[in-house]
Amino acid sequence: MSEYSTAQLREWDRRHVWHPFTQMLDWERDDQIVIEKGEGCWLIDTDGNRYLDGVASMWTNVHGHCRPELNQALKEQVDKLEHSTLLGLASEQSIILAARLAEITPPGLEHVFYSDNGSTAMEVAVKMAYQYQVHHGRPERSRFITFRNAYHGDTLGAVSVGGIDIYHATFKPLMFEALQAPAPYCYRCELGCQDKTACGMKCLQALELIMQEQAGSVAGLVIEPLIQGAGGMIVQPPGFLKAVRRLCDRYDLLMIADEVATGFGRTGRMFACQHEDVVPDIMAVSKGIAAGYLPIAATIASSQVYRAFLGEYSELKTFFHGHTFTGNPLACAVALKSLELFERDDLLTALQPRIARLSERLVQFRNLPHVGDVRQCGLAAGVELVENKESRRAYPWEMKIGVRVCLEARKYGIFSRPLGNTVVIFPPLVISDSELEFLLDALERSIRAVTGC
Ligand SMILES: *Cc1c(COP(=O)(O)O)cnc(C)c1O
Repeated sequence: MSEYSTAQLREWDRRHVWHPFTQMLDWERDDQIVIEKGEGCWLIDTDGNRYLDGVASMWTNVHGHCRPELNQALKEQVDKLEHSTLLGLASEQSIILAARLAEITPPGLEHVFYSDNGSTAMEVAVKMAYQYQVHHGRPERSRFITFRNAYHGDTLGAVSVGGIDIYHATFKPLMFEALQAPAPYCYRCELGCQDKTACGMKCLQALELIMQEQAGSVAGLVIEPLIQGAGGMIVQPPGFLKAVRRLCDRYDLLMIADEVATGFGRTGRMFACQHEDVVPDIMAVSKGIAAGYLPIAATIASSQVYRAFLGEYSELKTFFHGHTFTGNPLACAVALKSLELFERDDLLTALQPRIARLSERLVQFRNLPHVGDVRQCGLAAGVELVENKESRRAYPWEMKIGVRVCLEARKYGIFSRPLGNTVVIFPPLVISDSELEFLLDALERSIRAVTGC
């Protein structure tokens, strides 16, 4: 039991906590759930109510909450060393983790630059890619190609390569300009294609056109491999990622893969790039790396990128970037134990029937009269609700249809958070069969109730 009453905690929360991505006027009006404990796939509030964590605590949780092995690893590490800087010193856990990451990431990605979160991992990637071009005598290559609906974080560099207007447009005056390519959002294809593959992926031609015309001013391309997460769980057609890699090679651009959401098993492989045998030049990881325990991120570069920064001290080729808590030993220790659990539990194999079951169940969702599109990639899915299925007309955003479905699902003991009109399914990877059924039953019932069918 908390030493403070739920009412007291709520009162202080209203007064003092400014929640992310939240209209605080709405927030202050309602009594909010105050989470106190976690257990497996469940979150438990200060009154003892249990909620299935349907979004894996913002897409971070892998092995469940308060997993004993991870707790133990954290406790053991804290008695050895809580933190020591990587500026001027090496540290044990960060070394072992870097070596492991080099082993499990696509071949050629060898050099691990640590930071704290997905946004910083992407800032690092973008700055690294630009400085790489500078070292190659091409300082004019300062721009980035990005995709519409892309999300790479909320710091200014990450926002500049993002493509979600509702989040990003306000900050336009503060951003650097990026070249935006059409997203392979097949359900709402901006190039007018009706079918996922029959079009021969026209969006790739549009991308190539940008490269043809602009490559001379471009440092690199930034992509969320296989699935654009925050954009609405938008899944790319098979072959898209591979084709993007080929285009980057043809026009001599660095490919930056943002695996912050997809990394560490979410797609059914350790990394999304591995589905298409793609090796990016730079890969950013964060959310799942320490199994949702602690903030840590890594930007992992190929040797080609890394070597461009080597030079005499006086040449000023150093990568002048760093964060205070870089390579934190507690986070690294948990990340290492998490990787051990992936192996010991053979989690990627165990995941396959769960992913298959999710696909089967999603068919039922597809048939609902207000479900326009259902998209799945591994153990991540999005169910896009529409006002009119025939015309694909979206619900007006003021209707908050996604939010209402999630509030309805709470009555059944589910915590979920939508992306606009898209209901998200993104549970911890260890979710059991019965918990997955429970989650999907509740979401289906909630969609029916809120859309009136
Ligand atoms: C969440 C996310 C980020 C940003 O990570 P933060 O830790 O929230 O800064 C970046 N890229 C992708 C693909 C993400 O899903």
